[in-house]
Amino acid sequence: MFGLIGHLTSLEHAQKVAKQLGYPEYHEQGLDFWCSAPPQIVDEIKVTSLTGETITGKYVESCFLPEMLTQRRIKAAIRKILNAMAQAQKANIDITALGGFSSIVFENFNLQNNRQVRNVELDFRRFTTGNTHTAYIICQQVVQGAQQIGIDISQATIAVCGATGDIGSGVCRWLNTNTAVKNLLLVARNQERLDTLQSELGRGKILPMDEALSQADIVVWVASLPKGVEISAEALKKPCLIIDGGYPKNFDSQVQHPEIAILKGGIVEHSLDIEWKIMELVNMETPNRQLFACFAEAMILEFEKWYTNFSWGRNEITVTKMDQIGEASRKHGFQPLLLLDK
Ligand code: NDP
Repeated sequence: MFGLIGHLTSLEHAQKVAKQLGYPEYHEQGLDFWCSAPPQIVDEIKVTSLTGETITGKYVESCFLPEMLTQRRIKAAIRKILNAMAQAQKANIDITALGGFSSIVFENFNLQNNRQVRNVELDFRRFTTGNTHTAYIICQQVVQGAQQIGIDISQATIAVCGATGDIGSGVCRWLNTNTAVKNLLLVARNQERLDTLQSELGRGKILPMDEALSQADIVVWVASLPKGVEISAEALKKPCLIIDGGYPKNFDSQVQHPEIAILKGGIVEHSLDIEWKIMELVNMETPNRQLFACFAEAMILEFEKWYTNFSWGRNEITVTKMDQIGEASRKHGFQPLLLLDK
């Protein structure tokens, strides 16, 4: 059985869907309530592969909210993630994806040192960040999205915002190895990590965000920001393809321009309907088919019986593993979300 640990995008969002989620009493409550809410299994899932095999899974709502980071409720954030992991393990789930900020909280606050959660000793081999599949899907969206709008990658400048992150560094490695991209722009804040990535890749220009955005034909947005950034269409080159891989989404409706195409990054579409209700709550356009690539990774690992923490740690995503999970992803019927009407 597979598991998915997820969370909602904001307090406002959580209040709006509290009833449907099974927390009717939290409908009008503030952050304090969410900080004290225990994790809960709120959905039972059935997925069928293109091979005909059907698997089952559970969705664990961690009750983490991004405001816990912006308002420095760090202990609460940590508790949410560890309790949700313990809940998944107690439910005997073989492989569970740490969705959205769950893996970021896990890594940033060194939760590998917190194995013991009350009477549960966490077995980290039962968890995956899902980031290898996410990075693979984003790369496919770059290549196929560029084709859709007529950008020639071999003549293109691609800016990766969040380049030194787990997903960003995987994307840079894959693009560097598997495409003839002309220029790669690396954007993040920590200079040392940028230098390390640049020397590993043997290329890439380190630039501040605004300069990179003004030069890029394609922007891959994988910076981990708990709140969206404000970027205007004027700051971007035209035409331009933006792959917004952040959760919560950073660009969504704020940049609207006929020559700027925005693709929801890290989202896959399954070829067959999935039996679940949770994707309606996170406002997926086609909730019975579309899902986060990190969640799909847990499903793929379950289909393949690869019971291992396939994606773990930070900046260890290899091109080989991206291609391996990509092949299994296609086999079971997952496809990258692409632009409509093209
Ligand atoms: P990491 O924490 O590993 O990396 C984040 C990157 O963003 C780093 O390069 C960091 O570098 C950079 N960054 C953070 N803040 C800023 C800023 N203000 N300006 C510029 N760069 C910044 O995150 P992940 O790679 O694990 O995740 C990235 C995003 O993808 C997140 O939004 C996450 O929620 C989303 N995600 C989506 C999934 C999906 O299935 N669609 C699955 C998993 C994650 P520095 O700190 O030096 O600036």
